[in-house]
Amino acid sequence: MTLRRVRARVDGTVQGVGYRPFVYRLAGELGIAGWVLNDERGVLVEAEGPPDVVEAFVARLSSDAPPLAEVRGVQAEPVAALGAPGFQIVGSARGGAASAPVTPDSATCADCLAELADPADRRHRYPFVNCTNCGPRFTIVEGIPYDRPLTTMAGFEMCRACRAEYEDPLDRRFHAQPNACPACGPQVRLLERDGEPVAGGEDPLRAAAQDLLNGKILAVKGLGGYHLACRADSEQAVGALRARKHREDRPFALLVADVAAARRLVALDAAEEALLTSRARPIVLARRLPAAAVAPSIAPGAPDLGLMLPYTPLHQLLATDSGVPLVLTSGNLSDEPIAFADDDARERLKQIADRFLVHDRPIATRTDDSVVRVVRERPLMLRRSRGYVPASLDLPIAAAQHLLGVGAEQKNAFCVAKGERAWPSHHIGDLKNYETLQSLQTGIEHFERLFEVTPEVVVHDLHPDYLSTRYALGREDVKLLSVQHHHAHLAATLAEHGETGPAVGAIFDGTGYGTDGTIWGGEILVGGLGQIGRSGRLRPIRLPGGERAIREPWRMACAWLTDMQVALPPAFEEIAQPRWNMVARMSIQGTGSPFTSSMGRLFDAVAAICGVRLEVSYEGQAAVEFEALADRAAADPYPLEFEHRGQSVALDPRPMIRAVLDDIAAGVPVPAISARFHAGLARATADVLVIVAARRGLQLAVLSGGVFQNRLLLELTMDALEQAGLRVLVPHALAPNDGQIAFGQVAVAAARLAGA
Ligand SMILES: [Zn+2]
Ligand SMILES: [Zn+2]
Ligand SMILES: [Zn+2]
Repeated sequence: MTLRRVRARVDGTVQGVGYRPFVYRLAGELGIAGWVLNDERGVLVEAEGPPDVVEAFVARLSSDAPPLAEVRGVQAEPVAALGAPGFQIVGSARGGAASAPVTPDSATCADCLAELADPADRRHRYPFVNCTNCGPRFTIVEGIPYDRPLTTMAGFEMCRACRAEYEDPLDRRFHAQPNACPACGPQVRLLERDGEPVAGGEDPLRAAAQDLLNGKILAVKGLGGYHLACRADSEQAVGALRARKHREDRPFALLVADVAAARRLVALDAAEEALLTSRARPIVLARRLPAAAVAPSIAPGAPDLGLMLPYTPLHQLLATDSGVPLVLTSGNLSDEPIAFADDDARERLKQIADRFLVHDRPIATRTDDSVVRVVRERPLMLRRSRGYVPASLDLPIAAAQHLLGVGAEQKNAFCVAKGERAWPSHHIGDLKNYETLQSLQTGIEHFERLFEVTPEVVVHDLHPDYLSTRYALGREDVKLLSVQHHHAHLAATLAEHGETGPAVGAIFDGTGYGTDGTIWGGEILVGGLGQIGRSGRLRPIRLPGGERAIREPWRMACAWLTDMQVALPPAFEEIAQPRWNMVARMSIQGTGSPFTSSMGRLFDAVAAICGVRLEVSYEGQAAVEFEALADRAAADPYPLEFEHRGQSVALDPRPMIRAVLDDIAAGVPVPAISARFHAGLARATADVLVIVAARRGLQLAVLSGGVFQNRLLLELTMDALEQAGLRVLVPHALAPNDGQIAFGQVAVAAARLAGA
């Protein structure tokens, strides 16, 4: 019989996910001879046997891959047959180009959960049970190759039983780097606020659950950082947490034990349930049920609740033992980054938490929970971090040089890239905070090592004062490239769909630096990855007092109403006439008040005029609450006017604001006004995109920017565009907010380097 032998190169996420044991078992099943090994590119296999069997074997290398593996390609080439029997897993080889990926953290698998619950199992109630199909990855990795010594598990020596599992190719824990058990692995402890162990010596998890039931606030060390936890059905506990944390209005996320518990709080459609139970286990925003038994101050004014299911055995035990929904919110004071280092967490959280539930496995990288909502049955990412990072995205135009995009200022994430692949980072946060700026720097160094990217081109925003821009300007021996903020939004959305443009795009957000030095944010753009032109915008208006106008939406209302020569309306009773007059003067004279075409600020203005909110505690709050109020039944859209100037169109919202004032005067309820505003803006946006697309002969439209986190506006605009025959792209893998900027920056840079 003729034997055939092939050498197959398997690319993708194939290390640390049980891929080699899978190949080993498959070879055994089919009677294939040869070997499999990990190298720095991925997995290499040689397989020998009858030609049809080898062919079937190669096909199943991708079709039957284990749950956490993601096979991007299998290249098989014939080599000389050896006639030697048997199949081996060969030790790690070194050499070749490194791109073997580190994978995202993955929620506990069903097999491990069964062990966790089984009193006869040696890992019964062990809060760190994991295997090759689940467990910590990115948050414990300190370097490559992904091997235990280069993780935060390095300090734990495996016991004989764990070692035997780790070395057995047929075991579920073969080369599971974080493999551990109660005898050899990390341990949890419950500490008093002063760091002393809680007296009594009972199971710390049961004691912690009891504390929660008693209304205490706990700091809980998790996977990517510390959380603050309390029972979610007690207003006393939640109110105390809110007061101690100084988190005025932002909603708290909840942890529930299972889908059944989630269903008691929110209405879940199939897409939402799929996200909730996915391995990434993000916080899913879903419609709150009227009967949901949660404290009023969990999410004031929000129609949705943010829920997640346990993603580690520790969280599983805590949720099951307490038996009630828990608040699980980031362990920080309002605007600081989430604490992840033990000493720092102890120091920062001791004013907030009554006790600390901690463990001794260090966290390598601070990683926030991801946040997702569903729009038209597809995920709309609001924060992409734990569970998704560091998975790569493909670039539609390959990068000719190694790239780094440093992102924006708020909701910062960075992105490294080489060839066709880009690695968007975890959520870094608001760079105005010194600690966050530090995590940008250490994060970049970490990604450069993990993915062996040595940036030759560093891409930054046009804004000269962004700290990310300053970081970029401080890098030595690199070429610098700047990309306009809204171009980056458009490019990121095109690129995640594998498109290069040209397209027409509506990019609506809070603020971004324009090519003319003014503040953009309501932009109609035409172009692709390489180049962009501005075909329209929201009619510019003064931002009275600059940054202060973001925290005080009534100022934007004042600017628009002054422009329309309308006097102080009744909704503004709290604002004294002299203050109003001062801001009105600023908006006319322009002192310290730059022009802006920001759509986010228009939402602020209209929400303020409706009396929803005159001041906010976080950017976008007025818009979020205004959307929440909308009565979708009342959809008669308000009018907007277009001003055509040459090739450019300005959207003039003044007729709409006038209609809002008329409705208020006529006693129309705010939910109807909100719905008519959303419908009017969606229609006008679609109309202007259709006009511009027709002029340029384009069929592709892009919607992005932080304003499109608004589900109502996004859905209505998509509907109108699709009815007009345009194909619409919106962000899914990355957030429409500034979390997508860095990926957009590298996509633009790659295109420009390729001459596009
Ligand atoms: Zn598992
Ligand atoms: Zn052990
Ligand atoms: Zn933006």
